[in-house]
Amino acid sequence: MLLFETVREMGHEQILFCHGKNPDIRAIIAIHDTTLGPAMGATRLYPYVNEEAALKDALRLSRGMTYKAACANIPAGGGKAVIIANPENKTDEMLRAYGRFVNSLNGRFITGQDVNLTPDDVRTISQETNHVVGVSEKSGGPAPITSLGVLLGIKAAVEFRLQRKNLEGLKVAVQGLGNVGKNLCRHLHEHGIQLFVTDIDPVKTEEAKELFGATVVTPEEIYTLDVDVFAPCALGGILNSHTIPFLQAPIIAGAANNQLGNEQLHSQMLAKKGILYCPDYVINAGGLINVYNEMIGYDEEKAFKQVDNIYDTLLAIFNIAKHQEVSTNDAAKRLAEDRINSVKRSNTKEIAA
Ligand code: NAD
Repeated sequence: MLLFETVREMGHEQILFCHGKNPDIRAIIAIHDTTLGPAMGATRLYPYVNEEAALKDALRLSRGMTYKAACANIPAGGGKAVIIANPENKTDEMLRAYGRFVNSLNGRFITGQDVNLTPDDVRTISQETNHVVGVSEKSGGPAPITSLGVLLGIKAAVEFRLQRKNLEGLKVAVQGLGNVGKNLCRHLHEHGIQLFVTDIDPVKTEEAKELFGATVVTPEEIYTLDVDVFAPCALGGILNSHTIPFLQAPIIAGAANNQLGNEQLHSQMLAKKGILYCPDYVINAGGLINVYNEMIGYDEEKAFKQVDNIYDTLLAIFNIAKHQEVSTNDAAKRLAEDRINSVKRSNTKEIAA
């Protein structure tokens, strides 16, 4: 990989390669864009096949965070960190050493918990730096606010695609009944929606059947249902060349991260099929809104008000996609870039004045 060429193309500001012998640590902190505020992005610990794979993940995910914060109207930039390690070899010493690297950035990068890190690990990192989020439990975790954001996203998509203000009587298929999926089912049930659900855990599907009168289907069937909305709330990469031909739902609106197998190819495949896709990082921004509010001093009313913006932002994205004849994925990027560029322009004017 031609490092500077790649970074110039993707627009990153800074990449920190963190290395220590004792304790043994290899980590990469990628800061994509801090125009709107300090770069926020969780830390992932993963046994990458090689260093290039780790770097690519950090670069791609940090850029995604810039777009996510910009679309959510949060005064934060995009960052991401990866620790290259096998989860079995994770030690407190390693995490504390990593915390010292985060601290060396003096708040330019603020991090939290991602794959293979636990809330306890984040607490260990916080022994070395204040620049972490998700340690406080004041907000009760991000899932309730994330599921509310997804509900608002579904409302916006139904209004735009089906020209309906009311959700009652619609059919929604929910993939994954974890923290977000279960909360979402509760909201949808309260709105009089007929639910179809799947999970690999039969205890969770039984519970959804009992609590919400949901119809349980297999993990394969969920893609094929004749429903109004498909809500992926489990895994990434599930919208791909294999699954898209089966989809009948005119709307995809769910919380899972990185739903598109290949961003360009599969967002266009969905658009060609007439399926309205709610970009995942826009509809699931409740989690980021939650940690951002924890950071500035949690105020539940304020946090929930910010989540309300997801509805208007998605409507704006659908309209950009329609008028500029691009996929909703590209429209979301354009909206984010416009917001960032307008702040850049006013910063330049201030300096010039
Ligand atoms: P979770 O781990 O609590 O739930 C995931 C559920 O998916 C589990 O019940 C699991 O059994 C099920 N599942 C796994 N494989 C499946 C399959 N093949 N078919 C059907 N079900 C399957 O996770 P969560 O916190 O509910 O998050 C769900 C998704 O939303 C994830 O992709 C996550 O990254 C994303 N997300 C979550 C938040 C949040 O606030 N928790 C915020 C933003 C994005």
